[in-house]
Amino acid sequence: MNINDTMKITFWGVRGSRPVPGKDTLIFGGNTPCVSLEIDDKLLIFDSGTGICNLGNKLVQDKETVKAHIFISHTHWDHIQGFPFFTPAFIKGNEFVVYGQNKINLNFANLMKNQMIFPHFPVQLEQMAAKIAFVEVDSGVEISIEEGITVKTLHGNHPGGCLYYRVEYKGKSCCYISDGEHYSCVDNFLKSFIEKTDIVIYDANFTDSEYEGTDGYNTKIGWGHSTWQEGIKLVKAAEANKLVLFHHASHRTDEEMFKIEAQAINEYSNTIAAREGNIIII
Ligand SMILES: [Zn+2]
Ligand SMILES: [Zn+2]
Repeated sequence: MNINDTMKITFWGVRGSRPVPGKDTLIFGGNTPCVSLEIDDKLLIFDSGTGICNLGNKLVQDKETVKAHIFISHTHWDHIQGFPFFTPAFIKGNEFVVYGQNKINLNFANLMKNQMIFPHFPVQLEQMAAKIAFVEVDSGVEISIEEGITVKTLHGNHPGGCLYYRVEYKGKSCCYISDGEHYSCVDNFLKSFIEKTDIVIYDANFTDSEYEGTDGYNTKIGWGHSTWQEGIKLVKAAEANKLVLFHHASHRTDEEMFKIEAQAINEYSNTIAAREGNIIII
């Protein structure tokens, strides 16, 4: 395998809703969503939850200049709250293209800027010294990034809307599916979107019991998240390869995560529950 043809996927934040540091999350991690994907010297980043802070520090340590394409699934706090602390964005000479959706009467750039307006944060986004371009994208587009890397988008079923991303390069692919709720049957659009892909990073925030409101839980139908059981159904239907459970519920302890991972592997062996620091190379 030529190293230049590989996709290297690193998990920097795997937790949904809010950061959860503490003794019960040391193994799977407490940072909110951020995943990096490297192809040769090209860097793609998915979401800028608090996980992006550690990624940023590593980039500053390793590289003289940092260039990256950052894909935001949606602007719920857990997916953007690390951006104001992304150190490379404060360094002149670095360059970022940030992709995402507009919402109702707000354009995407303002959605990202607004979390840093003065009443919320002491430093405004305009004070970040790197070159930052915001690009609005919607469902069903194909974005060509240098040297044969393409990124496709699909609308996700989530309150306020959301975008899923599929990266393709030299016959390999990886899909980032966070956040999103399943339907009562497998979504044909989503099935086609992830068809035969190598890796599906999937919003498995709930278990089926939590979602459906059985075994003493209150139902979570309509909250915009899926379950590990639905992830398996989808991956099997789409003949995709590896399932990565992602966006773990904020209340989930390491011990509970191990149990869920074992149950999932029992039903679909090529499954892992994402841990901060996991690296997958395809
Ligand atoms: Zn989320
Ligand atoms: Zn969300």
